[in-house]
Amino acid sequence: MASNSEPFLAVENVEAVYGGVILALRGVSLAVDKGAVVALLGPNGAGKSTTLKAISNLIRSERGKVIEGAIRWQGRDISDRDPSALVSDGLVQVLEGRHVFPQLTVEQNLITGAYVRGLSKAEIASGLERIYAWFPRLKTRRQSRAGLTSGGEQQMVAIGRALMTRPTLVLLDEPSMGLAPLIVEEIFEIVRGLNRDSGVSFLLAEQNANLALRYADHAYVLETGRVVASGPAAELVARDDIKDIYLGGNASAVVRPTRH
Ligand code: ATP
Repeated sequence: MASNSEPFLAVENVEAVYGGVILALRGVSLAVDKGAVVALLGPNGAGKSTTLKAISNLIRSERGKVIEGAIRWQGRDISDRDPSALVSDGLVQVLEGRHVFPQLTVEQNLITGAYVRGLSKAEIASGLERIYAWFPRLKTRRQSRAGLTSGGEQQMVAIGRALMTRPTLVLLDEPSMGLAPLIVEEIFEIVRGLNRDSGVSFLLAEQNANLALRYADHAYVLETGRVVASGPAAELVARDDIKDIYLGGNASAVVRPTRH
């Protein structure tokens, strides 16, 4: 955390438990600056999802609890704020596993995001057009049942639905999971473009460090509930220990895209 001023999102020394016993986070601190894409890396079970759920307060629905530390968003303590109130304020989480309503069409799924915000018909229509501009694939599939679309399209629906809530901060959990490399690239390109064009900040949990470091500005590496490394993505890519453990010893494979 380079600056002394309060970051957009500040997580400080957070400890979290499930069922009152399992200590999933052991003093996690991180910061997301306004307009940044920050990656949360680490292996299975490291605590990435728990960190996101601690921020969005969805942890409570899994008998989880933050027992230590502070979480502030836009300078305000949000540890007691309801997840739905956070969505209304502009903080939304896209859960791991592409949650869509399978019986609803792609467009109906997207519209459910608008209800959380109580948008007018005109706002819904313009919201949909914005989503379709970012995800042209969804426009062609708008009348298809979401359950019958591809895994990549379902991930786009899940992200699109979150974007319908007009967020300023998106917590994106494992967007690449189970998807083919090409579609994953497409999704990350859209995320980066969205961030660039509309200033939405992202905190994204991702096991695929190689991929995430190409698109993130900054990254944190979690292991067994602790931050074990952090820094600008370009610096982490160059670090030998990170290369060996998380990048398969081949950081030359990491070609960062040109920023426009
Ligand atoms: P993954 O990629 O597998 O989701 P992760 O880095 O997101 O990994 P978490 O899901 O946050 O890790 O898990 C952190 C720890 O908390 C693990 O030990 C996990 O078993 C435990 N845990 C996660 N969710 C629950 C839950 N609902 N109840 C009990 N323990 C949980």
